[in-house]
Amino acid sequence: MYFVKPPALLKRLFPADLTWRKESHDTVYLSFDDGPHPVATPFVLDQLDAFHAKATFFCIGKNVSLHPDIYHRIVIGEHSVGNHTQNHLNGWKTSTDIYLKNVRSATSTIDSTLFRPPYGKIKKAQAVAIQKQGYEIVMWDVLCGDFDTKLSPEQCWQNIRRHLRPGAIVVFHDSAKAWERMRYALPLTLDYCRSQNWKFGTL
Ligand SMILES: [Zn+2]
Repeated sequence: MYFVKPPALLKRLFPADLTWRKESHDTVYLSFDDGPHPVATPFVLDQLDAFHAKATFFCIGKNVSLHPDIYHRIVIGEHSVGNHTQNHLNGWKTSTDIYLKNVRSATSTIDSTLFRPPYGKIKKAQAVAIQKQGYEIVMWDVLCGDFDTKLSPEQCWQNIRRHLRPGAIVVFHDSAKAWERMRYALPLTLDYCRSQNWKFGTL
């Protein structure tokens, strides 16, 4: 169960000061979680390059260690990177101590002050502690559902098309699970933004 567009009530359940969208009248913020992945991430980077677009990649520390060359390509491409924990931990099922250690462990490969909690699940104590360390916690405005294997590529694109607006932070996944839907929806998203004269911003 997930919301493509987070309802106000859901936002109120989270601690204050989480970033859900940006104030902008002409810029959208594409983000990619769970990489680097040897196939999906180079595909994303090629697509972004074709549109001269920049984006933000919330990387899993373990995957950065596995694919340092792809991580390097993200960084030299002037995209943003963010910490998505070392092992994709679910905050609700993890003690705060272990969670914080896992976030710290990802800092050995990921240099960033942005953090996105895996599954969007984080306890208040975890969020407060992470913010105290100087991180901005970034959630989303549009969760396209590319990770949902029951969704068709077309439905995934329609989720985006319906909710995309300037200031939106959109979540895709550069992962094996999302591949079929992401590879379909991303080029359409880029094309649609260009048709609206929207820019692509990094977080
Ligand atoms: Zn994730």
